[in-house]
Amino acid sequence: MSALHDLSVAQLAAKLAAKEVSSVEVAQHFLARIHSQDALGAFLATDEEQSLAQAGAADARLAAGERTPLLGVPLAHKDVFVTRDFPTTAGSKMLAHYRSPFDATVVNRLGAGGAGMVSLGKLNCDEFAMGSGNDNSAYKPVQNPWDTSRVPGGSSGGSAAAVAARIVPAATGTDTGGSIRQPASLSGITGIKPTYGRCSRYGMVAFASSLDQAGPMARSALDCALLLSAMAGPDLDRDSTSLDMPAADYAAELIAANTQAAGTKPLQGLRIGLPTQFFGAGCSADVLAAVRGALTELEKLGATLVDVSLPLTELSIPVYYVIAPAEASSNLSRYDGVRYGHRAAEYTDLEDMYKKSRTEGFGDEVTRRIMIGTYVLSHGYYDAYYLKAQKIRRLIAEDFQKVFSQCDIIAGPVSPTVAWKIGERSDDPVASYLADIYTLSSSLAGLPGMSVPAGFGAHGMPVGLQLIGNYFKEAQLLSTAHKFQMNTDWHQRKP
Ligand code: GLN
Repeated sequence: MSALHDLSVAQLAAKLAAKEVSSVEVAQHFLARIHSQDALGAFLATDEEQSLAQAGAADARLAAGERTPLLGVPLAHKDVFVTRDFPTTAGSKMLAHYRSPFDATVVNRLGAGGAGMVSLGKLNCDEFAMGSGNDNSAYKPVQNPWDTSRVPGGSSGGSAAAVAARIVPAATGTDTGGSIRQPASLSGITGIKPTYGRCSRYGMVAFASSLDQAGPMARSALDCALLLSAMAGPDLDRDSTSLDMPAADYAAELIAANTQAAGTKPLQGLRIGLPTQFFGAGCSADVLAAVRGALTELEKLGATLVDVSLPLTELSIPVYYVIAPAEASSNLSRYDGVRYGHRAAEYTDLEDMYKKSRTEGFGDEVTRRIMIGTYVLSHGYYDAYYLKAQKIRRLIAEDFQKVFSQCDIIAGPVSPTVAWKIGERSDDPVASYLADIYTLSSSLAGLPGMSVPAGFGAHGMPVGLQLIGNYFKEAQLLSTAHKFQMNTDWHQRKP
């Protein structure tokens, strides 16, 4: 019999429903694993008593005959989702002592207010979700379970490492410019960033509001589908940008595919577009080889590959690194030491208090982005930078629509390289920005995208295949990934 931590979300749910194990027993097993794997640095906070109380409540619902698909299964949340009576730091010293009076909508829907999953705590991340290696966390770096000298990716690095190391069966993440897909790729797990607005942003610590989006991270597409069904859906009273569309039962179609007869071509008729710009010299050969291997597999399953072009891909880097810091500089102005956040112990007057509190509370990368953002929004530069970036953002979105007339799904790499050594890019923020090239354009367009384990590259490190869909096409992405995963076992490999 496999150990509990080797079971998928779907398998754990089935065991709980069959009363082969209780939610309290499952929670205890995973809490012990969190402690034994503490050196990875994936967790920022746990509270055994609260978790076991949630598990007890789930057991009571199970005993009463309730059969919600995720009831009693544990997960953990990226530390940018606020959680009532529990720390939420966003990886920053600024929020070291913050306690939220409410739960984020996503937390509530996955937890006691809905699906009945059990939260085991909060996961490490880059400060205010700004970064690509989790080395911008103000608390500690996170290690990649495949090679502990390497980063797990970021900013949802704690989520990716915890799922890859089987410390939790699933986790939440957030993606502003790649922070679900890139750590999923670098840590060898599956993650999906839905269409912008699919999941409510209520209770997500804001980074760049026109880009921020929540999504699930787990080992398989099926597990992601189960979580997304519970997380998604309108929340218009609390987040006016949430989509006014009901959440689908994303898992149902996938489960139906399980019964498909062997030997059929489940992806027959699917056109997969390969943007020239995603397969150029900027991508390392080992990553390209793994991605091409995955594409061959998709072809065998019946998909047709077509060459397409996204000519503005390179511009997505400067556009994103103008728009995201601009929005961040505005969102982060709330941390003034009065209404929110750290306040300096000693100061002479109000201005000195603001200055000292913000200097002490924010790390280098966050400070850099506040400065860039303030600059591009200032009088005299607004038109040249911010407005120009907004116009190019529109053109990038239009390019995607042209491409979606030639194909159903776009595929390519997630990250130009496998995971790098911890500390290797710490002094070179631009190197990190450039490595976001394959994830930023779809974020700017608000499109759904996912990362699916597709093999291994240099140093035996995982490589993810990126799949990008048109607006609202999460179901198509998840079912394509699921059919790929029914015919490959990359997502089942253990570090
Ligand atoms: N790496 C990108 C950045 O640093 C994306 C971060 C994110 O998606 N939260 O901004």
